[in-house]
Amino acid sequence: MKLTVLGSGTCVPNKNRGSSGYLLELKDKKILLDCGNGTTWKLEKIGIDYLDIDYIFITHFHPDHTADLIPFLFATRYPYPYKEKRAKKLMIYGPKGFTKFYKNMQNLYGDWVTPHNVEVKEIDKKLQTENFTIKTFKTVHTENSIGYELFSEKKKLVYTGDTGYFEELSVISDNVDLLVIECALPDKEKMKIHCSPSDLIKVLKKSNPKKVLLTHLYSSMDNIDLLGLLKNKIDETEFIIAEDLMEIDV
Ligand SMILES: [Zn+2]
Ligand SMILES: [Zn+2]
Repeated sequence: MKLTVLGSGTCVPNKNRGSSGYLLELKDKKILLDCGNGTTWKLEKIGIDYLDIDYIFITHFHPDHTADLIPFLFATRYPYPYKEKRAKKLMIYGPKGFTKFYKNMQNLYGDWVTPHNVEVKEIDKKLQTENFTIKTFKTVHTENSIGYELFSEKKKLVYTGDTGYFEELSVISDNVDLLVIECALPDKEKMKIHCSPSDLIKVLKKSNPKKVLLTHLYSSMDNIDLLGLLKNKIDETEFIIAEDLMEIDV
């Protein structure tokens, strides 16, 4: 599988980092993990047709993870040439409350966000498809926020979405091929609903992921030596600081 970072930033505008969005390419399927503002345009920028996306998985309803569903769905309604309808089925999954969230979006935008061949669902604990299996886990962020464990091509990827530290994160992260974990703020700005470098160290003391992608970075993270801080504490893990449009082979 290949992961492309579409947005490594947060809700706060940053000239180098867009809001959360990741493209995961499997052999036969294209998946979006979150759809924060700018995601649709970034797909275009890397030459991926938005009509080619098969699945979108949403972690929680904050706008920096969902706002681009609006332009994405609007565009999906009017593929070129305009009278044609979307040919490929798109499934959009989110946590508990997602169907109501989408209904509210439809109350605002009506048919403009109601394209042909798109299904919106709340995900259960586990979803199995021909090409991959995905499991959810509860995160410490909002009432309904979740993260995803995705299994495909004999590899495992974990995407935490936004979360504060919780003990089970070590179990979920253990032995994964790629752990995409948020590291939003430096320790001195620590919030309960986001991870800081010392939270990461706690997770990694008890788990052994092969690669760790550090993402959802507020601007103040650019002022600290994150890699130095982590490498001093944990030596065997490969750390990557996310940048927009970065590609990672899983
Ligand atoms: Zn966020
Ligand atoms: Zn959030």
